[in-house]
Amino acid sequence: MDVTQFAGDMGLDYNSLLMASGAAGIALCFTLASSWLRQRGSSFLFTWAMCIAIIIVAIIGFSTFHATAQSLHAVVAGVLLTTAFALSYGALTQFRDNWFDARTVIVLALAGAAPIVTSAFMGFDGLSFIFINVMCAILLSFCGYHYWTARAESPGPITAIVVLHAMLAVSFALCVAVMALETPLYLGGRVPDNWAESLNLFVSVIAITGIGGLFVTIHQERISRRHQAESLIDPLTGLNNRRALFERFPTGLVVQGTALVVFDLDDFKGLNDRNGHAFGDLVLCNFARMLAENVRDGDIVVRLGGEEFLIVLPESSSSHALALAERVRGLMSRMVHQASDQAVTCTVSAGVAVAEKPQTSLDTLLRKADNALYLSKRSGRNRVSQNVSSAA
Ligand code: GH3
Ligand code: MG
Ligand code: MG
Repeated sequence: MDVTQFAGDMGLDYNSLLMASGAAGIALCFTLASSWLRQRGSSFLFTWAMCIAIIIVAIIGFSTFHATAQSLHAVVAGVLLTTAFALSYGALTQFRDNWFDARTVIVLALAGAAPIVTSAFMGFDGLSFIFINVMCAILLSFCGYHYWTARAESPGPITAIVVLHAMLAVSFALCVAVMALETPLYLGGRVPDNWAESLNLFVSVIAITGIGGLFVTIHQERISRRHQAESLIDPLTGLNNRRALFERFPTGLVVQGTALVVFDLDDFKGLNDRNGHAFGDLVLCNFARMLAENVRDGDIVVRLGGEEFLIVLPESSSSHALALAERVRGLMSRMVHQASDQAVTCTVSAGVAVAEKPQTSLDTLLRKADNALYLSKRSGRNRVSQNVSSAA
């Protein structure tokens, strides 16, 4: 029993299959559009919803061709179908590069439409139908290949998207093969109706709903990754927060030679009281930027909270950590913070501690750096002290 006969036995004639693809498309179109409305940044969802909307119109076109035998309906539907797949490349570029590559989309759409329209214009409606399937197979293979190269972000769902593109491309290619054998250059208004066409429609329903569903999955994964990243970043300064620090050292231990420098801005409460909280925020941002500019790759800069900051210096030494702390202290004491009519300076005190045992508790080392900071505060502020008590 071939697929056409099987589909026919189930009451799934050409039109029923078209309607099934259309219904699946409409449902998916709404799902994608509503996901996009909740997260406007994910514009690839909107573009994919547009692709599906165009595919639905194409399906209506094929259906009216089936009913009216007017070749123009099939040609318009074919051009809409290839345009939708060209646009799906635009969705891919938005997903991958955060940018809609309009030029390539237009080139692909024109390249897809050209042979379909040309052969129809010359009166070869059968050839035109063959080209609809050829161009769809090519465009789907092109998009599938580009998804494959971009699979690193979400390997599972993107690989599944590639497989669905491949399945759909193969089903279009099979239509080409069968039509090339069976269909003359002229269809005379008949819809190509064979096992490959039925298979293609089955696969279309699976692929279109599958790809749309996988897009929503990728979108959710992206949101949860972003939330996780945001939970580790201090929103005011953009530095790592205290939670990020402990995530970087999941065992709670640091190795020998790791140095900590704790900074605390001096009389910051007074600065807030005199100049306002917003001005205080500006000073915090200036200090954070200066810290980030003065560390090596691999050093970790953290806002511990309030006006307290930390630099973790892996593979460091007392002299290196003290020199860095002293450089930051000096730079801060000379930095003028300016906002409208206000220009003030603010100093910083620092405390340094270095891990001198092979495995040292981060908490213990932080406490020692804090003790050194307290010493700086007690000795008059705007200075750097080192913890010289028992080895950390
Ligand atoms: P010391 O020299 O002893 O460190 O004195 P201090 O005034 O800096 O210390 P204290 O801990 O008494 O005050 C810290 C102030 O930092 C109090 C708080 O209002 C302010 N602060 C904490 N977080 C923020 C923030 O995000 N923005 C601003 N503008 N101020 C903050
Ligand atoms: Mg403080
Ligand atoms: Mg302070």
